[in-house]
Amino acid sequence: MAHPYHHSISSVKKWGGTVADYQPIHDWFDHPKQIIADFRHRALRHHAEGIFMAETIFCSTLTLSTGRVVPVRWIGEQHVREDLGFIPPFAD
Ligand SMILES: [Zn+2]
Repeated sequence: MAHPYHHSISSVKKWGGTVADYQPIHDWFDHPKQIIADFRHRALRHHAEGIFMAETIFCSTLTLSTGRVVPVRWIGEQHVREDLGFIPPFAD
């Protein structure tokens, strides 16, 4: 599945800026991989509540190196969609 770097490249294509602008957010979504090195890590942050949690950690918007402001929610949704194809509710 996608590496945080590839998620960042995909974000750059959508909204501009650089890989470094997005990397901390995509790293955060995939961080539990370091503990659980299989698909179970996705259950921890790859859902609607995880995206909400990202907003509380990274603020509701990210200001890119270009000065453009992108909602963190959009970046989280992009990440989860690329990994799973959809955004599951927390209950799943
Ligand atoms: Zn992921």
